Amino acid sequence: MVPVIALVGRPNVGKSTLFNRLTKSRDAIVAEYAGLTRDRQYGEAKWQGRTYIVIDTGGLTGDEQGIDAKMAEQSLQAMQEADAVMFMVDARAGMTPGDQMIAEHLRKLNKQYFLVVNKVDSIDPDLARAEFSPLGLGDALPIAAAHGRGINHMLERALGAFPRDNADASDAVEAEDDEAVEPGQEPKRIPGPSEKDGIKIAIIGRPNVGKSTLVNRMLGEERVIVYDQAGTTRDSIYIPFERDEEKYTLIDTAGVRRRGKIFEAVEKFSVVKTLQAIQDANVVIFVMDAREGVVEHDLNLLGFVLESGRALVIALNKWDGMEPSERDYVKTELERRLFFVDFADIHFISAKHGTGVGNLYQSVQAAFKSAVTRWPTSRLTQILEDSVREHAPPMVSGRRIKLRYAHLGGANPPLIVIHGNQVEAVPKSYTRYLENTYRRVLKLVGTPIRIEYKGGE
Ligand code: GDP
Ligand code: GDP
Repeated sequence: MVPVIALVGRPNVGKSTLFNRLTKSRDAIVAEYAGLTRDRQYGEAKWQGRTYIVIDTGGLTGDEQGIDAKMAEQSLQAMQEADAVMFMVDARAGMTPGDQMIAEHLRKLNKQYFLVVNKVDSIDPDLARAEFSPLGLGDALPIAAAHGRGINHMLERALGAFPRDNADASDAVEAEDDEAVEPGQEPKRIPGPSEKDGIKIAIIGRPNVGKSTLVNRMLGEERVIVYDQAGTTRDSIYIPFERDEEKYTLIDTAGVRRRGKIFEAVEKFSVVKTLQAIQDANVVIFVMDAREGVVEHDLNLLGFVLESGRALVIALNKWDGMEPSERDYVKTELERRLFFVDFADIHFISAKHGTGVGNLYQSVQAAFKSAVTRWPTSRLTQILEDSVREHAPPMVSGRRIKLRYAHLGGANPPLIVIHGNQVEAVPKSYTRYLENTYRRVLKLVGTPIRIEYKGGE
């Protein structure tokens, strides 16, 4: 499970500064869910091989009776969803009654928390820590979010206890004539279909697009082996099942649970749940409502899926009973707005009537296979050489960029590591060209590809 860290604290202590540093600087994604969760930001971040989710809770003033009650409610909810809470205070402002009230909340919450004192660039860190020791929350971790000071030490404390991402390369799908990667270049993350779980499919989408109807439909038709699991409200439900002798595990974010003979939705949409399900899946089935077309929130969520690198199948639901002109309009919209995930198959389905649902599996299988096949170094290098011959990289200050060989650095998504000279100068357009070539030659469908360069050889 991906750890979730919530940043809380009074306004102006530096929460968004820290949030931006943790997420953006690590090439992570930031999404704001206006309306749905006012003033809350969710971002994915990475630190030393660990992926985690950061929530910027917006401001807590400590006075929940006041006009900020609404904001406080949001922050408290974010704290509930988190594994650990970072309580930020401001060294320059010193301790305030608001800080003390938040500290009270934290103690009652029964969650792991860390006291973080920010802005120690202008105040002596030891003085700052002493200032806040009366809060009774233990020793404060001093940082300067704006300057990046103390961040590593803080993350060490907060994340040290959580396990790293899966580094087990043993159960990936083997491609023919695989060969060993060079020492020190072991694939980073090669998850495969584990014996137990099969392909993990997350059903993702905005509220009301038809996720629970789809889950019911998928399970209703198939033999469900285990259908209920205890869990907190934050957790998705994992439902193993078999179809055509293939094993799958459905990660159900809609909270469908079996109550007696029927399934019913018992939980509301949660961003954290959605992000964790994406992280934990091999393949995401992204559900949209054809009647509403592509809306902003769809694009936000799709952005997360893309950044996570998971394989993707898109299901345009509620296709039943739509006029031909409406259908044409939706198709045009899809082409226009979903160009950034054009590698994904799109299915037009009716979860309610079951139309098209069975066909999803073919795309899931194909996407999964593309995502986890271990391509041999010789094959990837051959494709690189052919690409360079056909279309050489540009000259940089009179010298040509040299790309020498390529190997697989990870799977789900496939990571192709290319070694060469002056690789930092490779233009984006050239990387896109290579990406497209790899996609075409290896016939990759339904998965993004990552290309990374290693220089100095
Ligand atoms: P938030 O309301 O808690 O999200 O706080 P912001 O991130 O918006 O920061 C409030 C102010 O504090 C801004 O003017 C920041 O530039 C400033 N700030 C944030 N971090 C630091 C820091 O490490 N040192 C100093 N001196 N100022 C900081
Ligand atoms: P969720 O919030 O994404 O889990 O959405 P639900 O599965 O609860 O569905 C929301 C509403 O859309 C319900 O009233 C469903 O009956 C309806 N719905 C779901 N799938 C379809 C479909 O394929 N066609 C039509 N016409 N309605 C659907």
